[in-house]
Amino acid sequence: MKFEKSEGLYKKALGLLPGGVDSPVRAFKSVGGTPLFMKEGSGSRITDEDDNTFIDYCMSWGPLILGHADSDVVEAVRETALKGTSFGTPHRFEPELAEIVVQSVPSIEKVRFVSSGTEATMSAIRLARGFTGRDKIVKLDGCYHGHADFLLVAAGSGLATFGTPDSAGVTEGNARDTLVVSYNDTAALEELMKREGDNIAALILEPVPCNYGLILPNEGYLKEVRELCSRYGVVLIFDEVISGFRLGMGGAQEYYGIKPDLTTLGKIIGGGLPVGAYGGRADIMAMIAPEGPVYQAGTLSGNPLAMAAGIAALSKLKRDKVHEALAQKGALMQERLRPVTDKHKGKVLVKGIESIFCIYFTGLDNITSVDQVRGCDMKLFAAFHREMLNRGIYLSPSGYEVGFLSSAHSAEDIDKTVKSIDESLEIVLG
Ligand code: PMP
Repeated sequence: MKFEKSEGLYKKALGLLPGGVDSPVRAFKSVGGTPLFMKEGSGSRITDEDDNTFIDYCMSWGPLILGHADSDVVEAVRETALKGTSFGTPHRFEPELAEIVVQSVPSIEKVRFVSSGTEATMSAIRLARGFTGRDKIVKLDGCYHGHADFLLVAAGSGLATFGTPDSAGVTEGNARDTLVVSYNDTAALEELMKREGDNIAALILEPVPCNYGLILPNEGYLKEVRELCSRYGVVLIFDEVISGFRLGMGGAQEYYGIKPDLTTLGKIIGGGLPVGAYGGRADIMAMIAPEGPVYQAGTLSGNPLAMAAGIAALSKLKRDKVHEALAQKGALMQERLRPVTDKHKGKVLVKGIESIFCIYFTGLDNITSVDQVRGCDMKLFAAFHREMLNRGIYLSPSGYEVGFLSSAHSAEDIDKTVKSIDESLEIVLG
């Protein structure tokens, strides 16, 4: 494969954009090589500027559950754009998308649309603080919630620790109110709540953490978290930016049968356009301006193009029962992969839930904690990533990221992917 045009564009971009990109992971830093500049996507495929075509499992980091350039989504955007791209006034698509969200997600009674997942989590935390009159928040080790200052806090393993900033430019003051506790560690959370519960406004977590590899909640864990939050009057926020409309129309909360107080959404609800949302109990949501005293606003919030894309995507997901088919595809992929990974037992592990999967280079036979993900061999992942790319398979360029299936991925795509994984593992692991 030749990557000359991507290399040229990257060189140009390096002189104009920090690191040549607008979001750090895109830069291929952890896998090496030049980031590819994509020019086109269709269904399960993306094509770069050098005309190399790949089966895509990054899928724009999750939003494209219907595949690239889904005809319904494209048509909705096209029709809407012809009538204007933004008004800065209410638009009928806002309550229309809100109705789908409220009817689908068990705990959401009211919702506010924003333009990114970061905005959603940042605003939900402000709302929880306004609602409770408390300052502190709890974040779970390894969960990512976007780049708001107080959420960019290093994860302290073991018992809860006071957070320290994870990024330059985040002040100690900003990090001070963020308490960190390990995911799946109920005892540590209980101990933290006993000590600090009355000062904690919110606990935010990804119900299914997907930003530090894929970690599934231990049996009963989410229920325990729910109970502890209720006992101490802590607002429980499920960050479902990835899991929302991915694990089913009702997201992880429906999947596991646990109702948070607030939920943050993004990715799929915008059908591939920039959208985020936060919603939940009506009494808490009533605190948001203009109804209440918690301020939050946005010039392009509820943008008609993004709302139209979201309505088209969510309606299609429901109408076509896409999640059922996706669950089958996920199971098929796992089944086909089993004999392949069995050949390399003790060296590689594939984990999945519905249409999400993750490949770890580890000797462990299960991964349930962030510390275990830290122990995985990311150099092997980098070599594996390169081999997959050379075989026409585009994985997200980091071993900490998950892969996403879409309704556009066919059984043939899965077969080709499994064959490529087989060949790549043979080369990388020998
Ligand atoms: N929450 C979660 C769970 C995410 O995965 C992400 C982004 N990957 C965010 C929040 C932030 O969303 P955005 O990148 O749209 O700001």
